[in-house]
Amino acid sequence: MRIHHLNCISTCPLGGRLMDGRSDGILERGSLTCHCLLVETADSLVLVDTGMGLRDVADPRGRLSGFFLMLVSPDFREEMTAVRQIERMGFDPRDVRHILLTHLDFDHAGGLDDFPHATVHMMGAERDYAEQQKTWLDRQRFRPQQWNTRGQWRTYPGGTGGPWMGFDCVRDLEGLPPELLMVPLPGHTHGHAGVALRHAAGWHLLAGDAYFHEHEMDLRNPSCTPGLRFYQWMMEKDRDARLGNQERLRELLRGHRDEVTVFCSHDVAEFERLAGRPAGVPATPPAH
Ligand SMILES: [Zn+2]
Repeated sequence: MRIHHLNCISTCPLGGRLMDGRSDGILERGSLTCHCLLVETADSLVLVDTGMGLRDVADPRGRLSGFFLMLVSPDFREEMTAVRQIERMGFDPRDVRHILLTHLDFDHAGGLDDFPHATVHMMGAERDYAEQQKTWLDRQRFRPQQWNTRGQWRTYPGGTGGPWMGFDCVRDLEGLPPELLMVPLPGHTHGHAGVALRHAAGWHLLAGDAYFHEHEMDLRNPSCTPGLRFYQWMMEKDRDARLGNQERLRELLRGHRDEVTVFCSHDVAEFERLAGRPAGVPATPPAH
């Protein structure tokens, strides 16, 4: 299995340095990634999360909420969508047969419509809750406008696959090799999950929005920027579960740092380290 790192449209949140901890000031906008993965398996391509897609770029106001457009002002460059980066890498987007979603927030599910034939895997609790459109904030973050692939969705009831490094997990994802697992990490949303991928030298765990800043995974002195602390508080569905999972992820790193690389969706430094290129640059054809 080969794993490629794609940033599928950066967001540029208000608060600058208060959010990302890297920008020069607090009056300019910050920069966060939408860290997705393209996985080459023996017989197909698998996309993990989709960022924002072509239709979001073409019609932001028809697809996304005014509230989040104001707050995080995505950098809508078509070349950064998953489908365009996959083409640029020399692959055929129609070979993307499966998509794994950490959750259904607009900045993770926006590219689904660009892969109309892919089977989409997620936790059942995520679909069930997002479809309810219960609160005002739910209606801003979960956008049914992005869900035209609903007929292709496969959901899983819970972590019934037995333990993975101390976490429950979902194994035997329909049509996918055993090297791919979902690891429920509820809190940010009710059905939020990480995705674990086994490669030649160990495991990758894309922890999605279980945390937002790399310093939250600091084992001695975990910390977060005030802006991202506020954002996570605003978006959380279950605080105890969310903070408990962050502690469990640090515990995982304490015991298994040599075997597992843990990273989240939105941290620029983590993305650039793993991708080996600046976050604003699309992926190029892989060397063979
Ligand atoms: Zn997110």
